[in-house]
Amino acid sequence: ESFEDLGVIAPICEACKNLKFKKPTPIQQQAIPLAMEGTLQGRDVIGLAQTGSGKTAAFAIPILQALWEKPQPLFACVLAPTRELAYQISEQFEALGSVIGLRCAVIVGGMDMMSQAVALGKKPHVIVATPGRLMDHLEHTKGFSLRGLKYLVMDEADRLLDMDFGPIIDKLLLLIPLERRTLLFSATMTSKVEKLQRASLSSPVRVAV
Ligand code: AMP
Repeated sequence: ESFEDLGVIAPICEACKNLKFKKPTPIQQQAIPLAMEGTLQGRDVIGLAQTGSGKTAAFAIPILQALWEKPQPLFACVLAPTRELAYQISEQFEALGSVIGLRCAVIVGGMDMMSQAVALGKKPHVIVATPGRLMDHLEHTKGFSLRGLKYLVMDEADRLLDMDFGPIIDKLLLLIPLERRTLLFSATMTSKVEKLQRASLSSPVRVAV
């Protein structure tokens, strides 16, 4: 099966080709149709997949496609456990999304709050963030909110919880619309991940590779 066969639009298929993605990886084959906006089976998704499986594009592609159909600032937010992972995710979004004019901001701890506030003021489509710093901005950056958010991704959920981001994520969930699509990716399904899943996803479909 090709990206075209999964219903991915031409400009994003082209971006995949430029990145030398010849065909979708198994997690992409399973997750992309489920996470795609407007499809009958469009659902919340739990993806059990390791780093290296292509999981980032598995959530980035459906988000970019939905964004292309209906561009909107502060459309999607990806939570990541570490700065390094947040930058990798944003690079992948930019590589796949520059063809559709994507604006992406990275909001992580240890970096200047002011310049991040300026970046948020430019109304990015996608925010890739570590939870603590995102909460700081929601509390302190004037004019910034996630009230219109359509997609929430929690990447490496097992690591997010191992790093004790659970309580902050619970607080963040109160500031994000209930009417949204939620995608949770994790290498392992632990009891903590199950608990987070119950608190944040509605009738999810589970895919594993
Ligand atoms: P990830 O599991 O998201 O960290 O991705 C691992 C690596 O695989 C990244 O460098 C991606 O650019 C690459 N990748 C993602 N999807 C594909 C694909 N369909 N074909 C080839 N490489 C891919």
